[in-house]
Amino acid sequence: MSIVEQDSVVSVNYTGTYPQTGEVFDSSEGRDPLTFLVGHKQMILGFEQEMLGATVGETRKFTLTPDEAYGHRDEAATQDVQRSDFPDTVDVEQALEQGIPLGAYNEEGQPMQFRIVAIEGDIVKIDFNHPMAGETLNFSVDVVAIREATSEELEHGHVHGPGGHHH
Ligand code: ZN
Repeated sequence: MSIVEQDSVVSVNYTGTYPQTGEVFDSSEGRDPLTFLVGHKQMILGFEQEMLGATVGETRKFTLTPDEAYGHRDEAATQDVQRSDFPDTVDVEQALEQGIPLGAYNEEGQPMQFRIVAIEGDIVKIDFNHPMAGETLNFSVDVVAIREATSEELEHGHVHGPGGHHH
């Protein structure tokens, strides 16, 4: 297999930047390449679609709109919470300063991530939007390896071995 297609395991080096400022929001520089299984929702859809058909050694540069990336911001997905509702183990000031994502369970018992965006006295303002919701994103992606997925990887929907799950 020599091109990026459905069910291939692809390793890439990448840099993501915000189009307006050129600021890097994520990069594999100084790390191992990112390895993912194509077509199993491991990556944002627009990213995979732009990489389809690429070959090893190829570099692709593209821009994703919020629709193709992390969606739009939903202002209704913010909430005011009493500081006393947080367990003692959570340092809300530190979480705000460092942008640490926190977890909670919704009424259906599903895990949800949120961030603390402001603290006003006893009120903690939290936001369930993805931190990159509403953002248009630029990517530059180098394909470093492509291989066929094993039947076990296809069954699990993720990559095993280097850059993937170990279990
Ligand atoms: Zn697995």
